[in-house]
Amino acid sequence: MAEALLKVDSLVSGYGDITVLHGVGFEMAPAETLCLVGSNGAGKTTLLRTLSGLLDVRGGSVRFDGNDITRWGPRQILAAGIAHVPEGRRLFGPMSVIDNLRMGAYLRHDTAEIERDIERMTAMFPILARRANQQAGTLSGGEQQMCAIARGMMGRPKLLMIDELSLGLAPQVVEQLGGVIAQVAREGVAVLLVEQDVTTAFELASKGVVLDTGRVSLQGPTAELSRNPAVRQAYMGLA
Ligand code: ATP
Repeated sequence: MAEALLKVDSLVSGYGDITVLHGVGFEMAPAETLCLVGSNGAGKTTLLRTLSGLLDVRGGSVRFDGNDITRWGPRQILAAGIAHVPEGRRLFGPMSVIDNLRMGAYLRHDTAEIERDIERMTAMFPILARRANQQAGTLSGGEQQMCAIARGMMGRPKLLMIDELSLGLAPQVVEQLGGVIAQVAREGVAVLLVEQDVTTAFELASKGVVLDTGRVSLQGPTAELSRNPAVRQAYMGLA
């Protein structure tokens, strides 16, 4: 089998005296869509923050695209091709949609290519073209999520990590975002989704990792996980 794009092995991480992740392990293939699910406080956000270098790795290792990135900082990790769309989108509210997209390319210097990618993103997200000069802070929740995803894509990542994709959004908007995720995947970008809504997560991703108090309790194809009685009862509200 070809080398995984991302290989997380026995990962330990936390805050101060608190250990949140107690040896997490999973792999992602290039262009794969994987969802990370689990109860509140299971450590999903902590895992994304550790993978993007915002939190130090305290044990275990992370390999990405042929490199050991365990000790790398956030800038180096972004340059290597991991983009992080944080919970709450964190757009630059007073700045226009287009300038937010431009910020996503801040490590790049290929000006002409950046402009071409902005055109590509506004073609991919037509609503962003219509809102191009509007302040990002005035967009609806769904539009902000699209802008944040497009901003992440501006770094030309190989892996896009999205925290709480659907939180606070109407079902119709979540469906639109599902189409966006599929398109991102078709472009060859792997997507790691953190999602509270497990039913939605399983629809969007082909593989799932269930995190339970900082440990992986189950992982596998989402088609299998969604048939697992324990998963259905604990996370999907189904018998
Ligand atoms: P949620 O869906 O509620 O965001 P989560 O699975 O993303 O949950 P995390 O946000 O990673 O969980 O939190 C995991 C644990 O780490 C929780 O017990 C939380 O209280 C703790 N934690 C999170 N951020 C901090 C912090 N900055 N300092 C100390 N502890 C933290």
